Amino acid sequence: MYKIIIDWDKCQACGDCVDSCPSEVLVITQKDGKDVAEAIRPEDCIGCEACVAACPEEAITVTEE
Ligand code: SF4
Ligand code: SF4
Repeated sequence: MYKIIIDWDKCQACGDCVDSCPSEVLVITQKDGKDVAEAIRPEDCIGCEACVAACPEEAITVTEE
């Protein structure tokens, strides 16, 4: 199981991580009135870190639990 941590202060909701994920783990959603990426299906994450590489803001960290 992987843990996907997204720094919502850094996230600009560009959607690049959503597009890069082969497992449809990520979506753009709203938190406290701000659009951000969220991992809604972390159980489907395969740990490929495509989202980490895709993020221009370096907002995503993936760790194995
Ligand atoms: S590590 Fe890979 S599978 Fe997991 S959320 Fe990121 S892009 Fe998707
Ligand atoms: S790629 Fe980075 S900045 Fe863009 S939506 Fe995903 S977490 Fe946010």
